[in-house]
Amino acid sequence: MVKMELHPKLFESMAEQELDLTALSRVGMMRQKQPDYYVMRLKAVAGDLSASDLLTIASVAEQYGRGFVHLSTRQGVEIHYVHSDNLEPARLALQQAGIEMGACGPRVRVIVACPGGETCRWGVIDTKKIARELDTRYFKKETPSKFKLAVTGCANNCTKANENDIGIRGAIEPEWSSSECTDCGLCVSLCPLHAIERKDSDEGYSYVIDQDRCINCSVCTSLCPPNAWVAGRKGYTLFIGGTMGRIPRFASVLKKMVVTDEELYLLIERAIALFREKGRKKERFGHMIDRIGLESVREELLGEQG
Ligand code: SF4
Ligand code: SF4
Ligand code: SF4
Repeated sequence: MVKMELHPKLFESMAEQELDLTALSRVGMMRQKQPDYYVMRLKAVAGDLSASDLLTIASVAEQYGRGFVHLSTRQGVEIHYVHSDNLEPARLALQQAGIEMGACGPRVRVIVACPGGETCRWGVIDTKKIARELDTRYFKKETPSKFKLAVTGCANNCTKANENDIGIRGAIEPEWSSSECTDCGLCVSLCPLHAIERKDSDEGYSYVIDQDRCINCSVCTSLCPPNAWVAGRKGYTLFIGGTMGRIPRFASVLKKMVVTDEELYLLIERAIALFREKGRKKERFGHMIDRIGLESVREELLGEQG
């Protein structure tokens, strides 16, 4: 069951008292431009909802909204046109079905993720597992301004890791096997970053990767006909400081290949702690990074490995 997070009095005599909009935003309720009407933003970690969740949401939208839902740009489901008198009964109906409210305002928002390795043939990481873990650790944690995390299963970047305050992108390191290679040259032309080069030597030839260009995308390992490129280490490329909105900023790579879950969560923990410590009110994480300096932030987060 979902914990009651608002003081019960918040919903008492709503017609007579001013609603606490800040408290409402903590539980994903926003005032609409139409007087007395609100949006209820629901939580769908990694964009997943069960069929029975959808039936409940449809029924609540029929009963307390205007019979439709809006799908947000971050995998959220919103019920619009809920009158202030109906916020609490609608929330209770959702809660009884195990559907949680989302979040607005200066805090960690619902974690988004693509399907990842569970169903997508390109996925190299279990995006949903990571999203659920991040949800458990950080959802609604207070931050100087809104804080968004996204997990994307491969370099195709469907969930736009580098447009989020923290982005995690699945990554593989290709390894080349001379014994399997037929010297067809296909990988050189298929690599989207032109990172593969054929080199001649006294011993023969080899195909080598320019690591500064490679984005660990798995095109070579997926498309080499005799499987001469195989996946070596798998892990995560970790981005920090992305944001869209009024002042867009593409995220910076904190670490190109994080191999263990332990390190991934440690770096994310440090990044959120640093933002909570040094971020200014309403300042996005990326803009704080620009103010302090990327190198200094990298040193602080990566420690000796930086
Ligand atoms: S980012 Fe990759 S794994 Fe995720 S949906 Fe897109 S192609 Fe599939
Ligand atoms: S695509 Fe595979 S077989 Fe062809 S050159 Fe590249 S590594 Fe060798
Ligand atoms: S992983 Fe992608 S970017 Fe790296 S060498 Fe292979 S195809 Fe090129």
